[in-house]
Amino acid sequence: MENYFKEKRVWITGASSGIGRALAIAFSKSGAICILSARSLDGLNETNKLTVNPDLNMIVPLDVTDEHQVKEATKKLVEIGPIDILINNAGVSQRSTTESTDMSVFRSLMEVNYFGVVSLTKQLLPSMLSHSSGCIVTISSIAGKVGPPYRSGYAASKHALHGFFDSLRSEVSHRGVHILVVCPGYINTAIAHNALAGDGQKYNKRDDENANGLDPDDLASRILHAIVKKKTEVYFGKFEVNAIRLKRFFPGLLTKMLNRKFLKDPKK
Ligand code: NDP
Repeated sequence: MENYFKEKRVWITGASSGIGRALAIAFSKSGAICILSARSLDGLNETNKLTVNPDLNMIVPLDVTDEHQVKEATKKLVEIGPIDILINNAGVSQRSTTESTDMSVFRSLMEVNYFGVVSLTKQLLPSMLSHSSGCIVTISSIAGKVGPPYRSGYAASKHALHGFFDSLRSEVSHRGVHILVVCPGYINTAIAHNALAGDGQKYNKRDDENANGLDPDDLASRILHAIVKKKTEVYFGKFEVNAIRLKRFFPGLLTKMLNRKFLKDPKK
């Protein structure tokens, strides 16, 4: 991995906290130049301070649901030089049953987690294709392969990414652009606090599953490794990763296990 990322320009969305922050630190340690995006300027500045080369990085505040902002930011960054790696990491989760969730929440989850990713990918793709090089990494979830309780809108938005990127990969991988989709299990970040409740308010509570999950720095180093190895889809987590195999080979058993999980924790 040594030197692979040296002086590569890596654009990370959702870089103001959690996994995006851990990725920025990991990339900077590997010699990359990071472009840090999210809505919170304070959060981005905080992340930048934690990198090894804050003066080389760029901070580009951005709401991925705002197509105009995405277009302008991409135009300016590409004028400076090619972006080698795009990390579509910005995302928001959900903690609510389907029947208690407003339609507006289903739409917001789709706007951030799916359309935000499509919009940025589409803006940057022509530049990558014109150089016949580049890598687009998207942070999906185990919930992008298996629908757990309280996540129907979130799981749908993450499942949608797989269809989009499988198709895109079939269009561009022979033209020099590498597509990687990462499915993390539970990671110890503020994702539950920032998740949407059924009424669209922040859930604002801790989840034991996330608190006991994988460390974001550990996840980040596995993601860098997967990029170097030119993987197409990877699953990183603890026991929950087994849900993917269970769904494939024993779907009835998985449903029973998820029903039990729902009954044990019906408070959401
Ligand atoms: P955090 O809540 O810590 O981080 C989410 C990031 O997304 C923040 O930097 C936030 O920044 C940014 N973001 C949210 N909405 C927007 C928006 N409209 N425009 C731009 N940026 C936005 O959670 P994680 O770090 O855990 O999540 C990162 C990714 O990993 C997400 O896609 C999530 O779905 C995925 N994931 C996380 C798992 C976990 O267990 N933690 C498991 C599986 C997948 P700001 O508010 O400043 O805009």
